[in-house]
Amino acid sequence: MKAAVLYEHGGPLIIEEIELESPKAQEVRVRIESAGICRSDLHVIHGTAIQRLPVVAGHEGSATVLEVGSAVESLKPGDRVILSFAPNCGRCPFCLTGHSNMCDAHLSTGGTLFDGTTRLYKDDQRIYHMGKVACFAQEAVVPETGCIPIPDDVPFPQAALIGCCVTTGVGATLYSVQVKPGDTVAVIGCGGVGINVIQGARLANASKIIAVDIDEGKLEFSMKFGATDTVNPSQQDVIKRVKEITNGLGVDYAFEVFGSAETTTTTFNLARKGGTAVVVGLAPVNDLAGIDAVALVRQEKTLKGTYYGSVRPTVDIHAIVDLYRSGKINVDDLVARHYKLEDINDAFNDLERGEVGRGVITQF
Ligand SMILES: [Zn+2]
Ligand SMILES: [Zn+2]
Repeated sequence: MKAAVLYEHGGPLIIEEIELESPKAQEVRVRIESAGICRSDLHVIHGTAIQRLPVVAGHEGSATVLEVGSAVESLKPGDRVILSFAPNCGRCPFCLTGHSNMCDAHLSTGGTLFDGTTRLYKDDQRIYHMGKVACFAQEAVVPETGCIPIPDDVPFPQAALIGCCVTTGVGATLYSVQVKPGDTVAVIGCGGVGINVIQGARLANASKIIAVDIDEGKLEFSMKFGATDTVNPSQQDVIKRVKEITNGLGVDYAFEVFGSAETTTTTFNLARKGGTAVVVGLAPVNDLAGIDAVALVRQEKTLKGTYYGSVRPTVDIHAIVDLYRSGKINVDDLVARHYKLEDINDAFNDLERGEVGRGVITQF
C-alpha cells in the first residue's frame, strides 16, 4: 500500500509502497478516508516531539473498517469510524479512573501497537505508527479501542477533524475545565485547535471570548466561530489589552493553544486573580516555562494542562459528534483545503505559512 514515510527529521515525507501486516486479535485493518494536517505532525517532522523513525505520521483520521482481528467484538467490516490517537487498554489505573486519554499502556508503547510491535515495514526495516493511527497512508492497522464508530451522516473529512482538533479544543472548555455562562476567556493561538477552544467557549456561553494571534487572517476567521474580541500581539500589548476588555481584571480562563514556553507564561499572566490558565498546545520537548511563583500563591491562580481535551475518547467523542450533527459546533467551515496524499509536503508548507482552517487529505 501507499504511505507517506518520514525517514529523517526535517523531511520530506516520502510517498512509497510499504507493507502492512494483518491485524492481530484485538486490532482492526482500516481504509483511511480522510487525514487532517495538524501541527503535532509537524513536531514529529521537525523532531520536536518524541517519536522513533522511520514513521508513518498522521493522527487525525477517519476510516472504514476492512478486516477485524479474531477477538474484536465491537466492530465489523464496513463500519465508518473516527480514529483515536489515545486508544486505551481498559485495565491501567488511568483507564480505570476515567482518564483513558492518559492510558499507561498506550503511552508506554509509543510508535507501536499495544504489543510493542509494528505492522508496518519495508524490506527488512520496521516502520513506526504515530499515535497507533498512522493515517498518512491508504490503510492502517489500529487497536479496536482506537476506533469510534460514527453514523452515516457525518462526512469523513469532518470526522477526521473531530478525531483531533475539534475534540482537543472543545474538550478543553467542557471536560478539562467547565467554562460557565458569563465567564471571560482568552485563547492564545487560533489554528485548528484554538478555533475549537473558541467555539467550545461559545457553546458554554462565555461572555467575552478574546482571540489572540499574530496572524490577522486567523483573527478574522476566529470571529466566525464565536470570538467577541481579537488581539494581535505583534501590534498590541496583549496583557494590557485583555485587561482593558475585562474591566481591568484579566480572564477567568486563559487557554494556551500555540505550544511554546513563552506563550505558556503569557497565558498564566492573562488569568485573573483566582483564574485558571489551561495549557492545550504541545511545546517542543524540553521547553521550560517561567511562572511567577508569587502570583501563583497570592493571586490564587490555577495552572492546568489538558491532553486530547481531557476526554475519555471512546465515550466522549460520541457526544462531540452529536454536537456537530445538531449544528451546535461548526466543523464544516474548518475543512478548508483538500489534498492528495502525493501532495502532503505542500499541505505542510501551507500549514507553516499560516493558511486558515484545516487542510485534509481526502485522496489516497
Ligand atoms: Zn492533532
Ligand atoms: Zn490504560
